[in-house]
Amino acid sequence: MIYKRSSALFAEAEKVIPGGVNSPVRAFNGVGGTPIFVREAKGAYLYDEDGNRLIDYINSWGPMILGHAHESVVNAVIEKAKKGTSFGMPTEIETQIAELAVSMVPNIDKIRFVNSGTEACMSAVRLARGFTGKDKIIKFAGCYHGHSDSFLIQAGSGASTFGTPNSPGVTKGTAKDTLLANYNDIENVRALIEANANEIACVIIEPVAGNMGCIPPAKGFLEALRAVCTANNILLIFDEVMTGFRLAKGGAQELYDINADIVCFGKVIGGGLPVGAFAARNEIMNYLAPIGPVYQAGTLSGNPLAMAAGLAMLTELNNKPEIFTSLAEKTAYLHEGIAKVLTENNITHTINRVGSMISIHFDEAEVVDFNSAAKGNNDTFKAFFHGLLNEGVYIAPSAFETWFITDALSYEDLDFTIAAINTVAKTL
Ligand SMILES: *Cc1c(COP(=O)(O)O)cnc(C)c1O
Repeated sequence: MIYKRSSALFAEAEKVIPGGVNSPVRAFNGVGGTPIFVREAKGAYLYDEDGNRLIDYINSWGPMILGHAHESVVNAVIEKAKKGTSFGMPTEIETQIAELAVSMVPNIDKIRFVNSGTEACMSAVRLARGFTGKDKIIKFAGCYHGHSDSFLIQAGSGASTFGTPNSPGVTKGTAKDTLLANYNDIENVRALIEANANEIACVIIEPVAGNMGCIPPAKGFLEALRAVCTANNILLIFDEVMTGFRLAKGGAQELYDINADIVCFGKVIGGGLPVGAFAARNEIMNYLAPIGPVYQAGTLSGNPLAMAAGLAMLTELNNKPEIFTSLAEKTAYLHEGIAKVLTENNITHTINRVGSMISIHFDEAEVVDFNSAAKGNNDTFKAFFHGLLNEGVYIAPSAFETWFITDALSYEDLDFTIAAINTVAKTL
């Protein structure tokens, strides 16, 4: 395929935008080459500026669970836009999407909308600190919770690809309040809690890790985490920015039947517009301004266009809950197909999958945490990525990312993808 126009556009962008991109994961630093510029997208396909059609497995990094330019979402935004795009005053639609979200997700009474997953996680931690009166937090190596200061400590995908797990600009004072645990290692968490008795406000976790490839929670791990948090007066925060409204109507809380204390959302909840949210039971949410002491705000929070897109998206998912099963079936089909062709071509690999999240690691060892994820063969991944791109299949330009399956993908698309992987595997 030819990427002449994309390359030219990238050269222009680099002059006025750092690295030519507005979010580092979009650059091709992890795989080499220059990023593809998108002209438009519809359903399962991206159309780039050179006129190539690509089957999309990133889907805006998760939000487009129904596929691109889904009619009901697009129409909702268009109709809303005609009536004004921002007021900084309450609107009815904010209550409508809040009611729907609260009805779909277990164990939450109130939800506050913000503009990104980063803001949701940042605010959730502040709320947890305010509510418990404690300062320290535990996060897991390889989990990503947005780019706010306290989280940029071994933060998965973007940060890992660029080899800057501890970003300059994050103060030592901030870093010392973030304790780092290994994913799926409950003894490690227990030891940290013991060594920091009565100092830990919350444990924040991706209940299914998705930012170091896809890593499922080990059997009993989330249950044990819940128990140890409860026993030590520590709030458990599920960062469901990726898993929320994707793994089930009620996200990972529903799938694993575990109640978190605070839940963070982003991605799917905004239907492709900039939205994040955090939610909890009344006791905790009532700690927020204007009724409680913990301050949190946003000029564009609950923006009408964003709420219209999110409401249309959640309404579709709420009305068609069979989508979650059919997404999981499609993903299982893809899993089986990929495993078969990689095995036939003697390519060492491990595939992890939960629901509609899937990732391939080019290593034979089980991938259960950041260290095992980091062992994958990056040279193989680079060749795999560029090979697939050449075949018209677009996956994330980093070995540490999950693929997202959308409802718009047909079994024909999946067969096309498996055949493309077979072709590429022969060259690896
Ligand atoms: C994407 C992501 C975030 C950050 O969301 P942004 O909208 O990019 O700020 C936080 N947590 C998880 C688990 C994510 O996948």
